[in-house]
Amino acid sequence: VIDHGVPEHSVVTTCAYCGVGCSFEAQMKGDKLVRMVPYKGGDANHGHSCVKGRFAFGYATHKDRIREPMIRDSIDQAWRPVAWDEAIAFAARRLRETQAKYGRESIGGITSSRCTNEETYLVQKLIRAAFGNNNTDTCARVCHSPTGYGLKTTLGESAGTQTFDSVMKADTILVIGANPTDAHPVFASQMKRRLRQGATLIVADPRRIDLLKTPHGGSSLHLPLKPGTNVALVNSLAHVVVTEGLEDADFIAKRCDSDAYQRWRDFIQEPQNSPEALETVTGVPAVQVREAARAYANAANGAIYYGLGVTEHSQGSTMVMGIANLAMATGNIGREGVGVNPLRGQNNVQGSCDMGSFPHELPGYQHVADPAVREKFETLWHTTIDDEPGLRIPNMFDAAIAGTFKGLYVQGEDIAQSDPNTQHVEAALTALDCLIVQDIFLNETAKYAHVLLPGSTFLEKNGTFTNAERRINRVRKVMPPVAGKEDWEVTQALSNALGYPMHYTHPSEIMDEIAQLTPTFTGVSYARLEERGSIQWPCNDAFPDGTPTMHALDFPIGKGNFAITEYVATEERASRRYPLLLTTGRILSQYNVGAQTRRTDNSAWHAEDVLEIHPSDAEVRGLRDGDWLGISSRVGRTVLRCRVSDRMAPGVVYTTFHHPGSGANVITTDNSDWATNCPEYKVTAVQVERVSQP
Ligand code: SF4
Repeated sequence: VIDHGVPEHSVVTTCAYCGVGCSFEAQMKGDKLVRMVPYKGGDANHGHSCVKGRFAFGYATHKDRIREPMIRDSIDQAWRPVAWDEAIAFAARRLRETQAKYGRESIGGITSSRCTNEETYLVQKLIRAAFGNNNTDTCARVCHSPTGYGLKTTLGESAGTQTFDSVMKADTILVIGANPTDAHPVFASQMKRRLRQGATLIVADPRRIDLLKTPHGGSSLHLPLKPGTNVALVNSLAHVVVTEGLEDADFIAKRCDSDAYQRWRDFIQEPQNSPEALETVTGVPAVQVREAARAYANAANGAIYYGLGVTEHSQGSTMVMGIANLAMATGNIGREGVGVNPLRGQNNVQGSCDMGSFPHELPGYQHVADPAVREKFETLWHTTIDDEPGLRIPNMFDAAIAGTFKGLYVQGEDIAQSDPNTQHVEAALTALDCLIVQDIFLNETAKYAHVLLPGSTFLEKNGTFTNAERRINRVRKVMPPVAGKEDWEVTQALSNALGYPMHYTHPSEIMDEIAQLTPTFTGVSYARLEERGSIQWPCNDAFPDGTPTMHALDFPIGKGNFAITEYVATEERASRRYPLLLTTGRILSQYNVGAQTRRTDNSAWHAEDVLEIHPSDAEVRGLRDGDWLGISSRVGRTVLRCRVSDRMAPGVVYTTFHHPGSGANVITTDNSDWATNCPEYKVTAVQVERVSQP
């Protein structure tokens, strides 16, 4: 913990870790941050916090921060520190040379769910206006892109439906593929309070997560499904709802498309979707599935919360639609205590998607193929927008290896460590003629870069983050950027050097432009955020005070759309050669690839990544706690220490990915969601053997 003495003043800002979006008072002495104190007026956290937001801010002043821009002609050369002007001119020249040689579509960029809405908006604007293509994507591609697709298809909006506070009215809480205690701790505490009051808990997860240990007044049920069988499980839950007459007929008749509903009903009631028929697929006893379906459907209020255990699968989008189907069929949409609630891992996953980072959508999920949408943006931006969707991140990698994609601008994302199948990513990055990395540290991706532009932490800039409940919170600058520029200023400088002028003087002007172009943001401004503290979008003429609960009266698409969700088994299966299924997750004290949390002063937090294995699987292999294990998949091999744990089901192993050396993504494959290419991090068939040393 950094403590510089008695604070002199404080600034209210927003945590830059998870999607709960807790508000903090940054207590300052001069320009030194004394401590972070959870802000009682915070609409998402009401004065609560977890260890990360409270204590893990030392990375902002860590010696590893990049303090000046650097360039080099090729990746085998040493970095050369230069002034900002030279670095920006070098980057712009290389991008232009790359386009001149390989064509307009040969470059693109990646936005970050760690950065602010305003920064993200500017990067995608730069790509569309200055690069002249739609090759923009976000790191949300590898986490919640199926949420965007699945919820937009079924409910008409790519966002969760509730406030966090809504959980206090839930009678049955269904948690699927999420581990809130470690990944969303402040919301997990709220959920636990509701459980102690007597709500019923159902957890669908291959692991026995800690939430199941919460002492509470109601009952709890664990559905330990096999990795990769989510869709089979949700179909069997819906089958019980339909065949046992547990539907909300009134809600379906009034709020849902009748043809789509009838088609779905015919499909879901087929015998192959019954819990009994799917028992061997999911591994969950049919009697438990029936019990869970009844507990959810019969509750006065049933709420679903899900995480990356839903989205990071080859059927991630199908599963999101299956969850929405289940909520609509039981009438659990449109009031407090119910809903479909994606728990976002990073602080601004929602915002990075809202701000037009996707290659097919402009801000506000407005499709590039729509001429009226393009005309609106073209008029304000004074440019022409391509009507063809651009490349997604995995397509960029493939095109780089094929030699047609040659230039990439990456803001705040360590793709070399966080994307799956590291060997493939490294081959793509090595093939680039121009890689520009804008980051706060010299990350793994920077090893392949030609230009390094220092990034700024959340403490060094103004802006907004949008949390998992669509709440737009202010981020306020408490100290100057270590390298002299906020991230949005860097993007603006690059755009100007490329010949597309940008002249913003403050992020509030960027938000004003976002509000002009984004129908769900027309009522959002910094002045209103100052007045209200936070705003949940949609905030516009129809919802001038914002929208805590979505879909209360109707859906943006009119009627709710039931989607057919046929279960298709993943290609990644246990076999004689790779008999165990690996799944991945996080621990409380670390965050993603650990770039920030590993750079805190508390060494007790720096637990290594380990492989958790069930006692029976350990026994047949003669493994004990602390043994070194070689873990092989069909794409790679890594070494981790063994931890024997009965949290795992037999046949399933688990690890985290917080340390660069552990290489979890060396073994994950490039299987991905059929609709969005979100990687299938959650299922990798592996072999495990004891080795003498790493
Ligand atoms: Fe930050 Fe999330 Fe912890 Fe809140 S729960 S303090 S947003 S990491």
